[in-house]
Amino acid sequence: MVVVQPTTFCNINCTYCYLPDRDNKHVIAQSTVTRLFSEIFASGWACPEITVVWHAGEPLVVPVSFYREAFAAIELMRPQSVIVKHSFQTNGTLIDAQWCRLFLEWNVGVGVSIDGPRELHDRHRKTRSGKGTFDKTLAGIRCLRANGVPFHVISVLSRDSLAMPDELLDFYLSEGIDQICFNIEESEGDHVSDLFAPNPGGPELQAHYAAFLRRFWHQARASGRVKFVREIDLALPRVFRPDGIAARNIQTEPLAMLKPAVARGDPSDMRRVGAAPRHPGGCAGMQRGLRLFLGLRRRRAGQQAVRERLVRQHHDVVLHAHANGADRPDSRGL
Ligand code: SF4
Repeated sequence: MVVVQPTTFCNINCTYCYLPDRDNKHVIAQSTVTRLFSEIFASGWACPEITVVWHAGEPLVVPVSFYREAFAAIELMRPQSVIVKHSFQTNGTLIDAQWCRLFLEWNVGVGVSIDGPRELHDRHRKTRSGKGTFDKTLAGIRCLRANGVPFHVISVLSRDSLAMPDELLDFYLSEGIDQICFNIEESEGDHVSDLFAPNPGGPELQAHYAAFLRRFWHQARASGRVKFVREIDLALPRVFRPDGIAARNIQTEPLAMLKPAVARGDPSDMRRVGAAPRHPGGCAGMQRGLRLFLGLRRRRAGQQAVRERLVRQHHDVVLHAHANGADRPDSRGL
């Protein structure tokens, strides 16, 4: 998996967002995208299917034409033995027919962030002037459905929504949403989640979350209309697996996930939304990521043994963690 941050800018302002530089309208240069993928393909370490996630701030503030150019360039460089699948995680407010055409033409995976019915969604997912974004996000979802674009949703669970599994399910069913992922509202960056605060007289978070998932899963199965609940469907094969086989987690496997970082607000080598490129080189953080990657590639032959040792150590760690009961589904996801 390769996570690419085309811009840090976001057109809305969720109260629980922890991402920095959401006012910064600079966009990664096409030349940086090209260089990143040419090096990935040349490294020989690319797996047969690479998922490219365009994510964070809001990827749809960058024009459709940017992605057409980037996708075409990546496609031209792609070795025949490697399949590249693109996906977006979006707040959905900018989805229109033009975006749907791109999604269909390139078979793009689409994840829309929506926190459930209006009263839950609008508590946290707001515009910069403090208004709720529910109507615009729902319009985006309806546009996807009208154009036949498959999608899933990610809902951030707050203390309120953990107490409302039935209301959440009713909402998904009423909007034809059948692929669902949940994220727990986390404390990260500048954001402090009240989910982890002491809850006198109330259930502990872990028990609260388990009760929510249990109820949601039972009701979803009873409805017969939900195809996928990530927190259940990805956990089951990890729980019910042959003895001695470690559960995979690409977030902890060496080199399974590449996430070149974008520098905080460095305008020298990014370009603004809608403006001409300033420098062709891409953002500084991405360049640092590339330098790291290039250094690794140059030392590839000598480091193969190191990599194999890392993989062995990783498996040891996973098995050790499993033996200590720490091997549980990752609730964060993308
Ligand atoms: S849509 Fe995502 S990036 Fe934008 S403010 Fe909300 S959580 Fe942050």
